Amino acid sequence: MERSFKKEVEALRLGAGETFRGEGILAVTKALLQSGVSYVGGYQGAPVSHLLDVMVEAEDLLADLGVHVETCTNEASAAAMLGASINYPLRGAVTWKSIVGTNVAADALSNLASPGVLGGALIILGEDYGEGASVIQERSYAYAMKSSMWLIDPRPDLPTIVAMVEKGFELSEASHAPVMLELRIRACHVTGEFPAKDNRRAAFSSLNRIAGPPRFDYARLAHPPLTFVQERLKIEDRLPAARAFIREQALNQELPGQYDDVGIIVMGGLTNNVLRALTRLELADVYGETLIPVYVLNVVYPLVPEEVRAFCASKRAVLVVEEGSPDYIEQQINVELRRADIRTRVFGKGPLPATGEYNSEVLIGGIAAFLVETRPAGLDITAVAGMALAAVDHKGAAAQAVGELPARPPTFCTGCPERPVFAAIKLMQRELGPTHISADIGCHAFATFAPFSMGNSILGYGMSLASAAAVGPNLDRRPIAVMGDGGFWHNGLITGVTSNLFNKGDGVLIVMQNGYTSATGLQYMPSSKASRQGAAPGMDVEQTLRSLGVKWLRKVRTYSVGTMTKTLKEAMRTAERGLKVIIADGECQLARQRRVRAQDAERLARGARVARARFGVDDDICTGDHSCIRLSGCPSLTVKPNPDPLRTDPVATVIESCVGCGLCGEVAHAAVLCPSFYRAELVRNPHLGERLMHWLRRLVIGRLGGRAEAVS
Ligand code: SF4
Ligand code: SF4
Repeated sequence: MERSFKKEVEALRLGAGETFRGEGILAVTKALLQSGVSYVGGYQGAPVSHLLDVMVEAEDLLADLGVHVETCTNEASAAAMLGASINYPLRGAVTWKSIVGTNVAADALSNLASPGVLGGALIILGEDYGEGASVIQERSYAYAMKSSMWLIDPRPDLPTIVAMVEKGFELSEASHAPVMLELRIRACHVTGEFPAKDNRRAAFSSLNRIAGPPRFDYARLAHPPLTFVQERLKIEDRLPAARAFIREQALNQELPGQYDDVGIIVMGGLTNNVLRALTRLELADVYGETLIPVYVLNVVYPLVPEEVRAFCASKRAVLVVEEGSPDYIEQQINVELRRADIRTRVFGKGPLPATGEYNSEVLIGGIAAFLVETRPAGLDITAVAGMALAAVDHKGAAAQAVGELPARPPTFCTGCPERPVFAAIKLMQRELGPTHISADIGCHAFATFAPFSMGNSILGYGMSLASAAAVGPNLDRRPIAVMGDGGFWHNGLITGVTSNLFNKGDGVLIVMQNGYTSATGLQYMPSSKASRQGAAPGMDVEQTLRSLGVKWLRKVRTYSVGTMTKTLKEAMRTAERGLKVIIADGECQLARQRRVRAQDAERLARGARVARARFGVDDDICTGDHSCIRLSGCPSLTVKPNPDPLRTDPVATVIESCVGCGLCGEVAHAAVLCPSFYRAELVRNPHLGERLMHWLRRLVIGRLGGRAEAVS
């Protein structure tokens, strides 16, 4: 069950004279509609999932505007969608998480960027770099440079973000090149407001279709010998056209400052961080008025040499604030200044670290170091250095006062259907010994943390089986590849399963069939039991595997730990060669709870009976060895002080958040642990028979001298 975005969809309907208030990523969505797009698409991934989710939910509004929306099965299909803008004057936008999504899309992007576009083509990238990122720490910048696509990195305030989306389409059309717009997590979630405009219907769309295909034009294909011409066009025509547009439209900003013999050149997306750091050094106010001049690169690629030279010419030194490595921007600025024989010293990596996120604290240190080194005329450097120290020196004292804190790695949700599978793998390995586990992207990657600590490699989304291809033939036992159903449809079906069958591979594949792409916010996918429109899309993992020729295939309910363990042992031991697939079937608990809670609330409101399962541990029986916790890892299964004054070991306990998935009992049973677990049912609005039974039980227990709880 996907989240509802009704409120957000209403905001998309705002028109001229009204004020839009909300998050950055929603502002991007509104800006797309104000720009007259004909089509949008993408593949979900933090921090841009919201964009697509809202678009999909705004079906009616988009139909009114004639905008076609596609929830693509991966980023490659999203990038290929932009092919519509090669031949036709259609504006289109697609979105995904970068860098991983851009990697998947790379082939289509190269083939798009080479012939170039007629209609504006915009790629909204969730630049997942820095604190809280969940992907490899690489930058999209390299893609922009190598393919001659322009990269916008807007200053994170809503009016700038919206303007950059709108200008992004114009830039794309003026230079005939695709444009990427990157948003870090904070830019996606920054809140603010901007004056809305009316949504625009595109000149051509599903409401006003183009009459027939264009005349055949070989130049629209990324195919030799035209690719040689296109390479020249990129550099000789499109690049100058883009630079001219950026200059004429003043897409980059210059913030003047009093100490103008030095300056800061910043990637637009880091502007707020720089201004915050300057504020803490008392060199800017909270409204963004700065004493140090700042040149804001809302377009980080291409740079505009005239602007760079104009900003630097009168300065002794500039600091380039460019997050991550390599220092592409710093190198280009050095080259431009040397070419123009401008002697401004360029600082960047050195005062600032070569890797990692540039948060306010890092920037305070870096900017202070730059200023101390360059000594701007009239600035009290001693005071700046003192403030920089004061801004960070409390951290050491705080750390000492708090002491060492335990690590808190992310984990599966309470009652997650994927956790039992790893409990079963643990039990299987106890008997058969450890084996190589090819992990994948998705919630199941939480198993790489304690208490499971499983997974020898992760090579990308849907890549687990493919990454085991050379492991199996070189190891004395079969590897296990774990893949979600999301990963299966994204990539695993072709790169993993088809390749394995084609090469007559061996090994075990576990497909976690939870019904959604859960880790990105519970989106529907081809094998979901429902869709936005209600009916299931109708594709099925099991049927697909059988149709490809998978012979050894078992479907096991994930919570049945005993059966899962037995099936795993069978898959590992069987003499039968070939791919062995176990479909671990169990609906995502987060989705299930959202559905069940809504249903229960509705039943309670009309006075109907509602029962909820809960598990518990009998304090008297629990021995306190906690093997159940080591095998489960459920956050609702924890410890409490032993109520028995003669025993000191804490006992296991199940807390209020338990969703009654039953894994505790299953694990205790499958691992032959102990009989301390019990299952109870909390019944609200019980029927007459249950009330009578409860009354009878209380009576008997009371007669026997026990305590009886009141019935609700
Ligand atoms: S979102 Fe669903 S699949 Fe992911 S950890 Fe939570 S319950 Fe498990
Ligand atoms: S039954 Fe056990 S594993 Fe399942 S949610 Fe409750 S405490 Fe967690």
